[in-house]
Amino acid sequence: MAPRKRIAIMTSGGDSPGMNGVVRACVRMAIHMGCDALCVYEGYEGLVRGGDYIRQMEWHDVRGWLSEGGTLIGTARCMAFFERAGRLKAAKNMVLNGIDALIICGGDGSLTGADRFREEWPSLLQELVATGELKPAQVEPYQHLNLVGLVGSIDNDLSGTDATIGCYSALSRVCEMVDYIEATATSHSRAFVIEVMGRHCGWLALMGGVATGADSIFIPEKPKRDDWREEMRALVEKHRKSGKRKTIVIIAEGAQDRHGHKITPEMVKDLLADKNGLALDTRITTLGHVQRGGTAVAYDRMLATLQGVEAVRAVLEATPETKTSFIAITENKIARKPLMEAVQETKSIAKAIEAQEFEKAMTMRDTEFYDQYTSYMMTSAVQDQTMLLPEKERMKIGFINVGAPAGGMNAAMRAGVAYCMSRGHEAVAIHNGFAGFSRHHGDTPLGAVRPFNWLEVDGWASKGGSEIGTNRELPSESGMETIANLIEFYQFDALFLIGGFEAFHAISQLREARAQYPSLCIPMTLLPATISNNVPGTEYSLGSDTCLNELVNYCDKIKQSASATRRRVFVIETQGGRSGYVATLAGLGVGATAIYTPEEGISLDMLASDVRHLKEVFANDKGQSRAGRLILVNEKASKVYKAKLIADIIREEAHDRFEARDSIPGHVQQGGVPSPMDRCRAVRLAIKCIQHLEQFGKNAHNKAKKDPNSATVIGIKGAGVVFTPMSELEEMDTDWPNRRAKAAFWLDMKETADILGGRPKHHPPE
Ligand code: ATP
Repeated sequence: MAPRKRIAIMTSGGDSPGMNGVVRACVRMAIHMGCDALCVYEGYEGLVRGGDYIRQMEWHDVRGWLSEGGTLIGTARCMAFFERAGRLKAAKNMVLNGIDALIICGGDGSLTGADRFREEWPSLLQELVATGELKPAQVEPYQHLNLVGLVGSIDNDLSGTDATIGCYSALSRVCEMVDYIEATATSHSRAFVIEVMGRHCGWLALMGGVATGADSIFIPEKPKRDDWREEMRALVEKHRKSGKRKTIVIIAEGAQDRHGHKITPEMVKDLLADKNGLALDTRITTLGHVQRGGTAVAYDRMLATLQGVEAVRAVLEATPETKTSFIAITENKIARKPLMEAVQETKSIAKAIEAQEFEKAMTMRDTEFYDQYTSYMMTSAVQDQTMLLPEKERMKIGFINVGAPAGGMNAAMRAGVAYCMSRGHEAVAIHNGFAGFSRHHGDTPLGAVRPFNWLEVDGWASKGGSEIGTNRELPSESGMETIANLIEFYQFDALFLIGGFEAFHAISQLREARAQYPSLCIPMTLLPATISNNVPGTEYSLGSDTCLNELVNYCDKIKQSASATRRRVFVIETQGGRSGYVATLAGLGVGATAIYTPEEGISLDMLASDVRHLKEVFANDKGQSRAGRLILVNEKASKVYKAKLIADIIREEAHDRFEARDSIPGHVQQGGVPSPMDRCRAVRLAIKCIQHLEQFGKNAHNKAKKDPNSATVIGIKGAGVVFTPMSELEEMDTDWPNRRAKAAFWLDMKETADILGGRPKHHPPE
C-alpha cells in the first residue's frame, strides 16, 4: 500500500478573518481523503525552525475554529525566509516531516515567497544532499514541491480573484464603524474623514464608500483631479445646501494625488474645516487594526471552507507538470488559477500606480472593482450633467418592491434613482407593491405613485427593510386590468422590480398578460431580493448575505451559551421557504453537525443515523471543546419532523448523556442593517438593471413585445452577471410548486458541509 500522503497547512503574512476556517477545512478534508494533515505554526518562521512548529492535526483539533478570529496556528513575518539559507532549512524540515504538499494561506508577499521556494526546490534538495544534511534516499520521494496558495488578506489586493479571504469581514467592520460615526455626524452636523487600510489597493475604501453612501472617497488607483479641493468643496457645499447634515469622506491609507504625492486625512480635514470655506466641524477617525479584528463574516467562512477543500483537491490532483495554482473566486465560481501570473499582475498594478499610470491600474483590477467604482461615481455625483440624455430619450421608470423585505432593497432603490437622475430619467416610486398600486388608485390617484425625494433617498444606503413599502400580492390578485390601466395612466416606459419569488411570479404574470393588455409591453426587469435565495436565474439574491450573517451570529452565540454545559445539541430552525440554501450556507459557516433541507427531506433513517453519530461524538469528546453542537433544519424540510420534535427525539435517545434544545431565530433572519455585500451588490446590480431597461428607450412597446429580453431577471451565475429572459426561466428553470429554481447550485456545498461536519452518509427519503 502506498504511504499516506502528508499535507501541511500554513498561514502567513498579516492575519485575516477566515484563516481558521481555511485550516479547519484543509485539515478535515485532508483526513477525509485518507491523508495526514499537518499544521506549520507561525508561518515561514515555523517552517524554518521545524521541530514543534510542525504538528500533526486530528479531526477534533480544529473544532469550533470557524467562529474564531485571527489565525490560531499563528502567523509571522519571517526575515530568514527571504534568504536562501532560511529556505534551505525550510526544505530540510519539509523532507524530515515527510510533507508531500504545502497549502499556504497569505497575501501576495507570502505567495511570492511560496513561488520562489517552489522554483528553487530542486536546487535546495541538491544542496542538502551535497552538504550531507540529507541522504539521497531521504529526498528521493520529494523531487517536486507540490504547493497551492490561498489568498488570505483583508485588503482584497490580489489580482485574479474577486475576493480574498477576510476582505468582506474587514469591510463589515469598516461599515459598522462608519454607520456608528454617521449617527453622531448627523446629530452634530459634523464632517468625518475616516482612514481605512489599503496601501496599494483601494478596495476597502471604495466598497466602504459604496456601502455607506459616503460623500467622497480617496483610493490609490484613481486619484482625483488636480483641482480636487475645489471639486470637493463644491460637492460638499451642494450636499449641505440640499439639507444633508453629515459629511463622510473615506480615505485609503495609500491615497495620493495624480503626481504621486500622498493625500493625508489631515489635508482633507483642513479643507472641510477651513474657516473661509466650508467651515465644517471636522474630525478624523483612523480605523486601524479594528479592521482585522473579530470573527469572520458568513461569506468569508464560506470562501475559506470551499477554497480550503478545493486546495486539498488541487494538491492531490497535481502532477509534476501542473502549474502552481492558487484558488480564486470570480463572481460566484471557485477556480484554480496560475499563482505566479496573479502575483505578477498584482505587482504590476502597484507599479502602474507608482508610475502614475492610473487608467492602466484601474483596468487591471477585476471587473467588480471597476464596476463598483463607476457605480460609486454615479451614485455620489447625481447631478453630474455630463451623463444626461437628450430630452426625447429620457424615460419614466416605475420602481416597485414585491414580497418580503430583504437587506439591500433600499440600497438598490437609491442606486437606481441616482442613476436615473444622472441620465435625466424620471424615477417614480410605486408604494406597497401591486396591492398599494391598485388600491390607492381612485380616491387618491397619486397616493401610491410618487416621485422620489433625493434627500430622503440619499440616506437609504444602509437602511434595512423597504422604505417604499412592499407587499406579497401578485398582479393577478390586485387585478391585471387595473394594473395595465395604471401603467398606461402613468405612462411608464419601464418597470424595475425588486423582490423575491413573488416578484418573479409577478413579472411572469405581467409578461403573459401582454397579449391581452398592450400597455404591459414595456421593458421590465427583476433584481432578486430575498433571504431565501430561491429566485431562478441567479445564484445570489440581495438580502441572502444579511440573513446568513444574522444566522451565523445567532448560532455562534447559542453555541457559546453551551460552554457551561457543553454536552448540548441545538436544533435551529431556519427560514428559506422550500429552499435549503440558507440552512446549508449557515450550516457550512458554523460547522453544523447536520443540515436538513427541503430538497432532501428528512427520514427516520436519517434521524437515526444522525443520532447515532451524535452519540459517538459525545462518547469520544474528552472535553477538548467547550461548545455545543448545532443542527440546522429548514422550516419546510419536513411537515412532521420540526425543530422541536427533532430535539425531543435526540433528548430521548441520548439517555441523559447529552441534552438537546430547539431554537427558532425567526424574523431576526431578515436582518436589521443590511450587510456590506448586499449593499454593494445592490448598487452595482441596480445600475445594471436600469442600464438594461434604458437600452429599449422611451415608448418601446413594439420592440419590447417581440424581444424576450424585455422581461428579464438579473443574476450572478457562475463567473458572470447575466440577464436571463423570463420566457426561458419560466419554462426551463423554475420548479413552480416548490417556488424555487429547479437546479440547486449549492448542493455541492451541502456535501462539503456534511463532510466537514463529519456526518455519516445516509439515505435520503425515497
Ligand atoms: P499582507 O497582505 O498582510 O501584507 P503578505 O503575505 O503579503 O500579507 P508579507 O509580509 O509581504 O505579507 O509576507 C509574509 C512573509 O512571506 C514574509 O515575512 C516572508 O517570510 C515571506 N516572503 C514574502 N516575500 C518573499 C520573497 N520575495 N521571498 C521569500 N519570502 C518572501
